[in-house]
Formats: sequence, structure tokens, C-alpha cells
Amino acid sequence: DLLGRQSLPTATTPYIMPTKVLPDHQRKKILVTGGAGFVGSHLVDKLMMDGMEVIVVDNFFTGQKKNVAHWLHHPNFSLVVHDVTEPIQLEVDEIYHLACPASPPHYQYNPVKTIKTSTMGTLNMLGLAKRVRAKILLTSTSEIYGDPKVHPQPESYWGNVNTIGPRSCYDEGKRVAETMMYSYKNQNGVDVRVARIFNTFGPRMHPNDGRVVSNFIIQALQNKNMTIYGEGKQTRSFQYVTDLVDGLYALMNGNYDLPVNLGNPEEYSVKDFATYIQELTKSTSDIIFLPKSEDDPSQRRPDITTAKRELGWEPQVKVQKGLEKTIEYFARVLESAGEIIPT
Ligand code: NAD
Ligand code: UDP
Ligand code: UDP
Repeated sequence: DLLGRQSLPTATTPYIMPTKVLPDHQRKKILVTGGAGFVGSHLVDKLMMDGMEVIVVDNFFTGQKKNVAHWLHHPNFSLVVHDVTEPIQLEVDEIYHLACPASPPHYQYNPVKTIKTSTMGTLNMLGLAKRVRAKILLTSTSEIYGDPKVHPQPESYWGNVNTIGPRSCYDEGKRVAETMMYSYKNQNGVDVRVARIFNTFGPRMHPNDGRVVSNFIIQALQNKNMTIYGEGKQTRSFQYVTDLVDGLYALMNGNYDLPVNLGNPEEYSVKDFATYIQELTKSTSDIIFLPKSEDDPSQRRPDITTAKRELGWEPQVKVQKGLEKTIEYFARVLESAGEIIPT
């Protein structure tokens, strides 16, 4: 299936996934930047299954070719290895602009590059959207709210972000990317969509990307120490990836063009979340406490009133169900990879 549970095609036996067949005038050309990453590859699956023509642009910084390997032989699919900080000319109807490292260790690895990706990369995609009159969707983030003083966070909240902290390359990069989206809309009439995504998890998360869900599951499955940064009182709200993909699709295809929160309001303290994963995996891991990360937001939960009202969207997958699927996925990853020591 799409997550590789059956044998995958080899170079000598190309296998074409069966997708919907649309007449030419209904088959849109859709660019997905960052399409070889975690969220992007699930979005690509949906668009391909719907019969669309999909072009993935990705530089493989945090994405992997194997995330889209099942599409490589399909006539509707193209993969372009390219860095969005460089201009590119393509002819497309829609752009889902995801390209940007998303986990703290990845975006802090090369902060200057993260800033360039959000600013120059988004500028290039907006220039492209303007030239070919394509609709463009930016995957912004709940991080634009920083360490929020308002809880839960509605889209009208302006945020509380440190401009010079370790997270600022990502937070401020996305904030200016949002600003560019509305500048191109107001000045050039570009049709824009902005999703503010809250913590999302599921199969194909990079095992070493250091996010809390993958770290805890990988640690628990190997009965290794589960690492809490700080006291574990900070909260996060976790959304399963298929819900996010449905939300992105609804946003792109609806008429609402102001920012929309996409997240699951099911909120946990990091400590309770560790215990929960420990139970679900029947792990004998110990929970240990490491120093708190600098500027780590103390609370986060989406107010999804806008998404419900404007898109008729709300999450369908309970965190428990999503975690079970993700645990099953990482168990298979560990079977083939052997030991994994998370970042
Ligand atoms: P990911 O790291 O798995 O995917 C990002 C993809 O972008 C990767 O394939 C990477 O190789 C590619 N990329 C990075 N820099 C690039 C560049 N300069 N040129 C071309 N490609 C580049 O992360 P993800 O979780 O799939 O996140 C996707 C998007 O969603 C990001 O924009 C992220 O900011 C946003 N988002 C994700 C979450 C989450 O919880 N996963 C939360 C909020 C926002
Ligand atoms: N751009 C791109 N592909 C296109 C059109 C534009 O990559 O098909 C880039 C272009 O190189 C520029 C950016 O997008 O760096 C912004 O383009 P815009 O036309 O808005 O600005 P200008 O080129 O006038 O500075
Ligand atoms: N976290 C943790 N242990 C880990 C990884 C993360 O305690 O091994 C904490 C982290 O400090 C933060 C929360 O879990 O408070 C979510 O972290 P993640 O990196 O997944 O996402 P973000 O901070 O971007 O919300």
C-alpha cells in the first residue's frame, strides 16, 4: 500500500499505482514544494489518487526520495530536485508551498538557510504564482504565535515571538512569508491561502527529526529512556497527518483567503504524553528529565472555529488511533533499520 507495507516496484518491474482517470480539462497541474517530506508526501498521495498531475520540487534537505518512490513511474508524476531559494519556471494551476525544514533540530541546524528558504523561497513561489496566475497555499505554522499569552490561539492573535532566539529563524521566517503572501495578493491580485498548522504526526515522520512524537515512540519501542525537555508541563495539541491533508485540500479549494488554523485541539502536557505513549507501547522505558529548550512555548492549542465555519473541516482521527498507526509504522521501520538513536 502507500506506506510501503507490500513490496515496492524495482527498476526492472515498474509498477503503476491505480489512480482516478480524469478528462484533460479537469486534470489540474499541481506543484507541491517540499513534496518529498513528511506532510508533502501524504498530500501528494491524495492529489495523485484524485487523478491530478503533480510536480514535486524538493532539495531533499529533510525529505527523502523513498517517500514518493511509489509514484516515480506514474505518467502524472514528476520529481524535480531543486532548491526553492533559486528561481524556477514551471507552468502550473496550483502551488502547495511546503518547502521548509519543520522540526526544531532541522531548522536550527542552519538558521540562515531556514530564513532564506522561507523568504527567498516564498518570494520565488509567489513570483511564479503571479506569472502563471496560479493559486498558492503557504503552510505556515502555530509557531507564528510564539510563546502564546492567549490560549487557545485564534487566528486574530498576533503572537509573542522572540526575534533573536534559537527558534526565530523559523518563526520570523514564516511570519514574513505570510506578509509576502498578502502583499502579493493586495498588490498583484495573487490568489492566496495560508494554513497555520499545529503539531502534526504520522507515518513517514523522519525517525531522526527530533520531534516529540517520533522521539517518544522510537525510545519507547526500544525500551530506552524517554527524554522530556524541562519539567514536561508544557502542552501541545497533536493532529494526525491525514486530517491535515484534508484541511489543506479544503482550504485550497474553498474561497476563504485569510489565515486558517489547522490542528486537533486534543491537548496534552508533554509529561502526560510520554506516559500515554509508554502505556500504548507497553514499554519498560524510564522517563527522564533533560534541560528545557530555550524559548520553548509553554502552551499550544488551536482555536479551530474558523476552519469549522469556513471549510466545514474538523479533525476526524482521535490522537489514540493516530498514535496506534504511527507506533505500528515505527515498529516496522525499526525492524528493517535495527537500532535508532533519536536526535
Ligand atoms: P519535512 O521536513 O518533512 O518536509 C519539508 C520538505 O521541504 C522536505 O522534503 C525538505 O527536503 C524540503 N525542503 C526544505 N528546504 C527546501 C528548499 N530550500 N528547497 C526545496 N525543498 C526544501 O517537514 P513537514 O513536517 O512535512 O513540514 C512541511 C511544511 O509544513 C513545512 O512548511 C512546515 O513548516 C509546515 N508545518 C509542519 C508542521 C508539523 O507538525 N509537521 C507544523 C507546522 C507547520
Ligand atoms: N520567479 C520564479 N519563477 C517565475 C517567476 C518569478 O522563480 O516563474 C522569481 C523571480 O526570479 C523573482 C521572484 O520570483 O526572484 C519574484 O518575482 P516577481 O516577478 O514578483 O519580482 P521581480 O522579478 O520583478 O523582482
Ligand atoms: N520534547 C521533549 N522531548 C523530546 C522532544 C521534544 O520533551 O524528545 C518537547 C519539546 O521541548 C516541546 C514539545 O516536546 O516542548 C514538542 O516538541 P516538538 O519538537 O515536537 O515540536 P514543537 O516544539 O515545534 O512544538
